[in-house]
Amino acid sequence: MPSEADQERIARYRPLSGMETPRFSGLASFMRLPVMEPREAPGRIDIGLVGIPFDGATTNRPGARLGPRGVREASTGTRARNAATGIAPYDLAACADLGDVPVNPVDVAATARAIEAFHRPLAEAGIVPLSVGGDHFVTYPVLRAIGCTRPLGLIHIDAHSDTDDGQYDGTRLTHGTPFRRAIEDGVLDPRRMVQIGLRGSTDSADELDWALGQGVRVVPMEAVIDRGLPSVLAEARTVVGDGPAYLSFDVDALDPAYAPGTGTPEMGGFTAREALQIVRALRGLDLVGADVVEVAPPLDPSGVTALVGATLAFEILCLLAEAVAARRD
Ligand code: MN
Ligand code: MN
Repeated sequence: MPSEADQERIARYRPLSGMETPRFSGLASFMRLPVMEPREAPGRIDIGLVGIPFDGATTNRPGARLGPRGVREASTGTRARNAATGIAPYDLAACADLGDVPVNPVDVAATARAIEAFHRPLAEAGIVPLSVGGDHFVTYPVLRAIGCTRPLGLIHIDAHSDTDDGQYDGTRLTHGTPFRRAIEDGVLDPRRMVQIGLRGSTDSADELDWALGQGVRVVPMEAVIDRGLPSVLAEARTVVGDGPAYLSFDVDALDPAYAPGTGTPEMGGFTAREALQIVRALRGLDLVGADVVEVAPPLDPSGVTALVGATLAFEILCLLAEAVAARRD
């Protein structure tokens, strides 16, 4: 149980209930949480939800710059308690919407600096980020900000490895390269890293060979089908171990039937139910940050992909809140 002082602090940052004002009304912050300036956050909150509206490192179809806006809107339907696990995240941790990183939509390097600069003071204040992209490139500067004091473990759910060296004449900063860059920078520990759900066609075997050569545990979708998710997820927990870890969830891990609004869709993906099963199986890990990326609302007029993104963000928020409570209490 949190101390009395913590309980009092946590109670100040509850999301607006649908019983107070209808869920379709008001400003659409993440989960209807209070909106806070990042500089006000230290000492007040435990978890900061951050939008990263950038898709300038996308190599195929853009649209993820509108991910944070779409997920905020869809997230107004999420309530305070996880009915499946019983976790009530807002009883465990003080959470707020910290707004969006001030990205430069036409400059990848400048945006990388802005993302890192936004997340670094949060990390220094012990605030856990739950970031919503944006294309998958945005994960790299987040990892640089929160992994700079010790390399992190990583659970990476994706159709793609994102460990390419470079694309288009050696451009090194794209949404196909974030984990290669993070490993090179020493902010990720490849031996405590697992990738789940990889599939589809690739340009060559180089990307995967490099990851395997670094000691990354790679579980392609064929292996998930052969072994079943429970076995794969148990192994993932073992690979990551007890140390600090990050969870990065690319929505294209899901089948396009469930998440069509994404830049690089691949057939044969996870169902929405399996996506929830994956997140719930990660309870108890020492998570110090997480993200949901590649939601591209313009590519999905139905809005289901944003709903998937918002639902996953809530499920992940439950894990982060438990991790915060475990470190504190
Ligand atoms: Mn990805
Ligand atoms: Mn992907």
